[in-house]
Amino acid sequence: MPGKIMVIGSSNTDMVIKAQKLPSPGETILGGEFHLFPGGKGANQAVAAARLGGEVFFVARTGNDVFGKQAIEQFTKEGIHTRYIHTDPDHPSGVALIMVDEAGENIIAVAPGANAQLKQEDIDEAMREMETVDIVLLQLEIPLSTVHYAIKKLGELGKKVVLNPAPAQALPEELFKHLYLITPNETEAEILTGIRVTEEETAAKAATALREKGVKQVVITLGPRGAFVLTDSCNKLIAAPKVQAIDTTAAGDIFNGALVVAIAQGQSLEDAVNFACRAAAISVTRLGAQASAPYLQELKQV
Ligand code: ADP
Repeated sequence: MPGKIMVIGSSNTDMVIKAQKLPSPGETILGGEFHLFPGGKGANQAVAAARLGGEVFFVARTGNDVFGKQAIEQFTKEGIHTRYIHTDPDHPSGVALIMVDEAGENIIAVAPGANAQLKQEDIDEAMREMETVDIVLLQLEIPLSTVHYAIKKLGELGKKVVLNPAPAQALPEELFKHLYLITPNETEAEILTGIRVTEEETAAKAATALREKGVKQVVITLGPRGAFVLTDSCNKLIAAPKVQAIDTTAAGDIFNGALVVAIAQGQSLEDAVNFACRAAAISVTRLGAQASAPYLQELKQV
């Protein structure tokens, strides 16, 4: 049985120019290549979960423009339910302008556009689906007030709520007690706890500090090392499969999308983290964000 998953978050279009060098202020560089990629942490995680067999409802806002239309078409192709994606009449779709030079150095500017308009009323509308949804996943690329509202409301309903606290920022203390699971990477764990996380031992300390704040379960992702899990019954590092990584963009997004699929299917958190590590390991061997998200049948090969 596929688990029913709701992802609440951002959708962006990444516009990438690859050029020999990055321009200085006032300079024009000619001769670069242009690429357009779907992105945004919410969208990446929704796509990852759908490809791995989850039935996914995505709650988001896009603009009334070509990027928003393309994004919704893409979600539909991925089998994601789009009825809770609103077209914002007054704000453009979120975009990231990215320039990359030959050495891989980049400059990025993000205009959140409609993502910054995702409001309480969008959450209230999506609550209609809540009776059948097994698990809800959020990140921090939409307004923190909306994230807080959703987590509190869902927590009080007794829903399993997973927060991937990315991009890194401090959170209201009141929020932690409503979470079933939090999934920071090393940097995010440090921002939330003040503990510098570099390996298993420091991850264990930060995970304990997060549990003391009231989160039931903690998974700290540690890049190529894997992920550290702390629950009532599990306290250990789950190692990542060893692979030849070529692009780690969105590794955390693929990990989170995979994790909620496995939890929604009733797997233990330890097994779910194993599954997520395998999915993320495949994604880092391929280029791109959503493009690198694996399908269920591919996981059998890792
Ligand atoms: P983020 O992308 O949010 O910074 P991480 O770098 O911690 O998060 O990566 C998330 C997960 O992706 C890790 O827990 C691991 O399972 C997997 N991963 C990341 N980099 C690699 C790698 N080089 N080899 C194998 N797995 C990786």
